[in-house]
Amino acid sequence: MCVEREPYQTARAGTGQSGNGSRSLLIRGGLVAGADGVLETRDVRIVDGRIAPAGAGALPHDDVEVIDATGCLVLPGFVNMHSHSYGTLCRHDGARLPLEPWMNYALAGTANRTPDEILVATQLQAIEALRTGTTAVVDHIGGAVAGLAPVLGAYEDSGIRAAVAPMIGDIPLPDSVGLSAEDWPPGTGYGAPEFAQKPAAELLDDTLALRRSWTSPSGRVAVILGPSAPQRCSTDLLASVAEAAEREDMLVHTHLLETRLQAALTPRSGVAPGWTSWTERGS
Ligand SMILES: [Zn+2]
Repeated sequence: MCVEREPYQTARAGTGQSGNGSRSLLIRGGLVAGADGVLETRDVRIVDGRIAPAGAGALPHDDVEVIDATGCLVLPGFVNMHSHSYGTLCRHDGARLPLEPWMNYALAGTANRTPDEILVATQLQAIEALRTGTTAVVDHIGGAVAGLAPVLGAYEDSGIRAAVAPMIGDIPLPDSVGLSAEDWPPGTGYGAPEFAQKPAAELLDDTLALRRSWTSPSGRVAVILGPSAPQRCSTDLLASVAEAAEREDMLVHTHLLETRLQAALTPRSGVAPGWTSWTERGS
């Protein structure tokens, strides 16, 4: 990063949320790509949270914050379209393992987290994102859905834009990769209460309850639907997600065929009727 500023302030300026709604921001002397892709040294002016047209005259407010961007490239905020904030607190657990066995560590890492742990994990995610110029994230967040309110508050306070997709699935991990519980390596904790799957209806209800309980003061933080992956969700759950997406006008975020194993285990006729009927509707 070329400009040393608080990430919070950077994001507010970059996402249309200027502090008191009437300030102007002048990013002076940075390199900006024109319509033809050629870099030119230009000033960028942001008025009331929006980039002002070039040559639009003087800034209308006396309270102008100036950033010297000399020698820097001025870019729009990046968007991270897939992330898992819970991973900030268990980043090296199960390192170098293939995805499916690694997921045991992910499940263990998110089980029984306290609200403070959930809050800190999200804050770390937001800080890391903002420090790389990322002003919007999709967080496919694991853990018990009913306890995810701190995630929403942390993103709201950070200044970032976030779509929070509670990751839900009702098929146990061993079943999703074609193994019986007895075939699963001992010591992985399979069968422990923390790994028990809730029924499909309950998982979806928890997601919808979280959404209804949340109003984003800034309008930047939203709850969306997050079925974990087709092989980890029953037909009932996928069909319910599809129905809820239409009824509640909600976006859906999911994994799809992340590994060769998953591709090999997925029937060519379609992963699940609920899923395929939903995708065919083009939602
Ligand atoms: Zn993922």
